[in-house]
Amino acid sequence: MTDSRTPFPQGTILGYPRIGRRRELKRAVEAHWAGSIDEATLEDTAARLRRATRERLAELGLGRDDSSIPESFSFYDQVHDAAVTVGLLPERFAALRGADGSVGLDAYFTAARGAGDDAALEMTKWFDTNYHYLVPEVGPKTAFALSSDRFARQVAEAKADGFTTRPVIVGPVTLLALAKAADDAPEGFDPLDRLDDVVPVYVELLAALRAAGADWVQLDEPALVSESLAASPETLADAAARAYATLGGRADRPSLLVAAGYAQLSPQAWTALAAAPIEAIAIDLGRGAVPAPAEGLAGKTLVGGVIDGRNVWRGDLAGAWDRLVALRGLGAAQVSAGTSTSLQHVPHDVDEETALDARLVSWLAFADQKVAQVVTLATGLVEGREAIESALSAASLALADRRSAPGVHDGAVRAKATGLGAGDFERGDYDARAVAQDAELGLPVLPTTTIGSFPQTGDIRRARARHGRGELSADEYEAFLRDEIARVVTLQEDLGLDVLVHGEAERNDMVQYFAEHLDGFAVTQHGWVQSYGSRATRPSILWGDVSRPAPITVDWTVFAQSLTDKPMKGMLTGPVTILAWSFVRDDQPLGATANQVALALRDEIADLEATGIRVIQVDEPALRELLPLKKADQQAYLEWSVGSFRLATAGAAPATQVHTHLCYSEFDVVIDAIAALDADVTSIEAARSRGEVIDDIAGSAFVAGIGPGVYDIHSPRVPAVAEIGALLDRAVGQLPLRRVWVNPDCGLKTRGYDETVASLRNLVAATIEVRERL
Ligand code: GLN
Ligand code: ZN
Repeated sequence: MTDSRTPFPQGTILGYPRIGRRRELKRAVEAHWAGSIDEATLEDTAARLRRATRERLAELGLGRDDSSIPESFSFYDQVHDAAVTVGLLPERFAALRGADGSVGLDAYFTAARGAGDDAALEMTKWFDTNYHYLVPEVGPKTAFALSSDRFARQVAEAKADGFTTRPVIVGPVTLLALAKAADDAPEGFDPLDRLDDVVPVYVELLAALRAAGADWVQLDEPALVSESLAASPETLADAAARAYATLGGRADRPSLLVAAGYAQLSPQAWTALAAAPIEAIAIDLGRGAVPAPAEGLAGKTLVGGVIDGRNVWRGDLAGAWDRLVALRGLGAAQVSAGTSTSLQHVPHDVDEETALDARLVSWLAFADQKVAQVVTLATGLVEGREAIESALSAASLALADRRSAPGVHDGAVRAKATGLGAGDFERGDYDARAVAQDAELGLPVLPTTTIGSFPQTGDIRRARARHGRGELSADEYEAFLRDEIARVVTLQEDLGLDVLVHGEAERNDMVQYFAEHLDGFAVTQHGWVQSYGSRATRPSILWGDVSRPAPITVDWTVFAQSLTDKPMKGMLTGPVTILAWSFVRDDQPLGATANQVALALRDEIADLEATGIRVIQVDEPALRELLPLKKADQQAYLEWSVGSFRLATAGAAPATQVHTHLCYSEFDVVIDAIAALDADVTSIEAARSRGEVIDDIAGSAFVAGIGPGVYDIHSPRVPAVAEIGALLDRAVGQLPLRRVWVNPDCGLKTRGYDETVASLRNLVAATIEVRERL
């Protein structure tokens, strides 16, 4: 069977950004949602985008007809694509199916975005990245059936243009491992139990792709690297062995590449895939080592993921070559060069960045540059190292230049970091701090506050854009922002909140704002990366040693404080979140970089204190997100991440109240770490989980102030006074009274003013009621 198959190409990428070089897909999709273009026009735009992508990839050196070009387009999310293809669509959207049960674009988008009372699919982070996928819902009675021919149509569309592409589809094990039990599923139901029911649909899908002209199909199975999913690595490996025995055992199928990036395959999964009747396995050799030899590799291709799909560095090409050579030692039939993951996590093309320093540009590789690197390595695999020697040494020279460049190593920053001692991470006894803060602040019981941002209105965005274009002078823009701050302060005083914020109107983004004001960071013009659906972010590039040339937030905060007698919170983003939402240098441990950011924040906190600011919040919403997938790496991560937060905040006087904010309620593995941050007050998400997190807190070693969010800011719904009161009663019933704070779930930036004001009014009213009942 294998003899007549076309060989796997010598080089490939596991996926490519699909948003378009100028975010064309975002524009088209949002225009369609707004009703200004119809479905046919949207499909047409998407087809043009796919065509441009194929042409571009061929131009960069991937073969037109050898399956080296992945077909990895998605209108919204790759997990949702696979889910609807096998028929997964929650019952509440069933009416949107076609007469034959098919799931068309309308149903696809509606399930992604929700409609009226029918909640959207839940969204959660894809492994340890900042990309969010839609969580499929699976129950014991869910019917699986091939419900979309989209993947096959794309193969045919490419064929018509003379391309033989390789469809990229989330595989059955990962699809179910990432799914959640449908609402009507009995307690203890595990979506993975439905594996044997979903595999036949993949069999049918593979046959359809074969018929459409696909020689190879890539099934993504990153679940097989994770130790952080509900299913154990053993269970996942067993599931993979079963699924691929069936899928590979069929004759009417394309050749199969099973790809597992984001970390090293578990040893069990590696053994299972090596033995499975599939033709190729792609492994991550950036985050994983070359695995041990395994039974069954002799007839297979191994795709070595040596080009990092998640960072923006040109990196060590010679080192990548060496890893491919080492991979050859395993005795597989063929070794090919590849990326460690899809390139969906990096921007399109560094050549677009005309405003970046040329020297910095010479160290960078975005998606297109990474494709070229893969092509170079593939040439080496065919023609020998000599053929690519000059490219390898050019990359090595760039790397050496980067290592020796001023700014990458800043003596003063280094000296500060090496001089640190244990005392720099310690604020001293919490109880003594609490006494000092009570005396300083004189707050009522159940103090009320918000998380920082107030609605970013169209007016604010327009003023920022006009300032960016030079249509609004620096003075005019500043005056505009001061008015905005004054408005927000007055509003909070009218509402009767106890600890106020300035509203963050001056910030485009909570990370980019700090990146723009710190040395060691660069900001791109077109470096957009999909975050979820039609949303993209533009991560900054942390390339050098980090320092703070001047105070960042002090003027705004001092101005805001001057308008009120209530305490004004200084508002900073923490070191872990700044790293998590940027592209970070790869030439030193993350912990070392985090400490540099922490030291800059520490100086900012000292400056805020010096002007009389008494409450300072340091947000760490990404603390959970960066937690490594491998258990063995988690402890070290928690040590440096918690350490960097403590380094940032430990210089604050005992009477200064340090707050932090985290955006999730799955406290599980990080609860001790959150306690170890040693903040005086921690605000967290709780409204969506109806305050369940209060049980976790009550049962933990957590001793300081806690603000379980009582208002879900992810929804425009205004919570009723009674509803907020019930959450507060629960908190007060389970936690010592003086520890409980009252606040929304998260920042208010994405909300409108009407709902914000109504919700905060209810929040204050509920607090007063509960206080009176005490
Ligand atoms: N202070 C930030 C805000 O209010 C926090 C945002 C976040 O947690 N993601 O917008
Ligand atoms: Zn938040």
